[in-house]
Amino acid sequence: MSKILIIEDEESIANLEKDYLEISGFEVDIETDGRAGLAAALTKEYDLYILDLMLPGMDGFDICREIRERKDTPILLVSAKKDDIDKIRGLGLGADDYITKPFSPSELVARVKAHLARYERLIKTDFRKNDVVEIRGIKIDKTARRAWVNGEEVQFTSKEFDLLTFFVENPNRVFSKEELFREIWNMESIGDIATVTVHIKKIREKIEYDSSKPQYIETIWGVGYRFKI
Ligand code: CA
Repeated sequence: MSKILIIEDEESIANLEKDYLEISGFEVDIETDGRAGLAAALTKEYDLYILDLMLPGMDGFDICREIRERKDTPILLVSAKKDDIDKIRGLGLGADDYITKPFSPSELVARVKAHLARYERLIKTDFRKNDVVEIRGIKIDKTARRAWVNGEEVQFTSKEFDLLTFFVENPNRVFSKEELFREIWNMESIGDIATVTVHIKKIREKIEYDSSKPQYIETIWGVGYRFKI
């Protein structure tokens, strides 16, 4: 259930808003003082704020600014004066919407629902976005640990995948075998750095058109390897 905080000093309005929102299935808290309202907004978890502009203690402009510095939660400003709308627009407070008094409670509920739905979509897209790197036809989805070469998916072992990702993320820089070994196999492993050479050979076989003439991972004789861009 979504939780909403109303910061409003006119109790009859606050209660009316609360009643309508509760009928629509929301959980609602009311604060009637600006400072107490800001404190509640910052310390408790809410899904949306309905914020009156003229308040005792601290006005809605300042509260809005303070909330926005710390949270992305939707803010709906409520104003008694039409003139305030220009001010809200001009100040760039980061409010998501504003509504002028008097307004119909059903309009308020409709706007609240719209903003909650939009915010939920935003959070989901953020969450779903995979970490993808792409360079010269090689695409790596780090989140899903999948890779494509010129649009075709290629299977890599875990270390091959890590090594290729490291190259793609650090193009045009030369790394020695020791550096690559440390980077991919970690310091604690006491292994053979020849394993780096073996893995690079395997990667080349999978990504190069002709692995005897590598176009991606170049050998810099006596130094190491470089991913060309
Ligand atoms: Ca007021």
